[in-house]
Amino acid sequence: MKLETTKVLAICFSFLLAIPEGANGDAPEQWSPVDPFPTQSAYYPGTEKLHPDEMRVVACGTGMPQPRLKQAGSCYLVELGNGDKFVFDMGKGSAERLAALGIPTDQLNKVLISHLHFDHAGDFPSFWLARGVNAARQPLFLWGPGGGQNSGWGIKGWSEKVKQAWAWDVATRESSGDPRSTQLTVTEIDWKGVNKLFYDENGVKIYSIPTIHIDQSIGFILEWNGLKFAYSGDTAPNKWFLEHAAGADLAIHELMLPPDMWIEKYSMSHQAAVMSGTQGHTTPRAFGKIMEITKPRMAVANHMQNDFDTAPIIEKEIRMYYRGPLSLAMDFMVWNIDKERLTTRMAVANPESYPPPAQVPALPPVVGESSYQWDPFSFTGLEERTSAVTNQVVEEFNLEQGTNIEPILSRMPFGK
Ligand SMILES: [Zn+2]
Ligand SMILES: [Zn+2]
Repeated sequence: MKLETTKVLAICFSFLLAIPEGANGDAPEQWSPVDPFPTQSAYYPGTEKLHPDEMRVVACGTGMPQPRLKQAGSCYLVELGNGDKFVFDMGKGSAERLAALGIPTDQLNKVLISHLHFDHAGDFPSFWLARGVNAARQPLFLWGPGGGQNSGWGIKGWSEKVKQAWAWDVATRESSGDPRSTQLTVTEIDWKGVNKLFYDENGVKIYSIPTIHIDQSIGFILEWNGLKFAYSGDTAPNKWFLEHAAGADLAIHELMLPPDMWIEKYSMSHQAAVMSGTQGHTTPRAFGKIMEITKPRMAVANHMQNDFDTAPIIEKEIRMYYRGPLSLAMDFMVWNIDKERLTTRMAVANPESYPPPAQVPALPPVVGESSYQWDPFSFTGLEERTSAVTNQVVEEFNLEQGTNIEPILSRMPFGK
């Protein structure tokens, strides 16, 4: 009887302690039904604190000049644990991707452009112009190559022309944005400088290297807290990247589809296919050689159409020389890097983003001599019945908010 009791107790006790075994034989952990699952295989922007020693890089454009929904032109956001953020290139289509990360616009205030092809600089005007209506209240800083023999072709001449081209837009928005949001400080970098230090603040050093793409093209190397980020810009394989990007924690280098794919995908002539795929750019095989020599912790292939049928061909070519860690970049790929750990995930971006609130008080708009003056003709199109509805909306707003804003346009007398 005593034996029986012991046996029963043992059975009951083991039942109380019983934990179902996982597939691997380990006891599974217990998850609360109301707490979030603590590990995430995807990156949800706005949910993860960046640790003081950590670097996070988000691909906000990995593509080419050819327009495609899936890939914007080159753009990489580098976020550091000290609070600094840098945007390397702003190819067309990238401003929306940056916005989808939900970062306060004022925190994206340092933009570095490798060269002035539109797949690397095409969205800078949109980004700059959108700042005023996107809760920005601080100036913007821009770096890029100088123009060499033609000073007008450097980043300064280019940004002046951007301002001229969009003067109407800036003038017509003057009354709605903070006057600081359009302020732009531009710094030119000597495009022939080799490992030239041009930024040294807050423990962050950024160097430029020349590239072999078109004159006035550069690459960048950022060093911070013992971590090294290298970004090749557009280039044929060059000795400067081999020397100065060696051992990078994250080495982003361009490559192009092989020539036969240019014929297949873009109906190019044989001559054009070889020029596009191999000259002034890097073939996947040469990319492999570059990474074999420089041995980064993570090699990132940028600047190619990354599809189900191209990726295996690109990877096969790369693997002829390089066996190390490799990411074939896609838009919204994200890397978290510290000295011990390097993870690659995809970000789940918010397609319906709004900018976080501004962090400093607004300054009143500056209305200068060059401010936009309406032609009275437009006012002749105002109409009584619809203006009355607009005025009603403003009156309700004033009542709710305790303001006294005058609807200047819809209160105008009607023209004939
Ligand atoms: Zn280019
Ligand atoms: Zn390019």
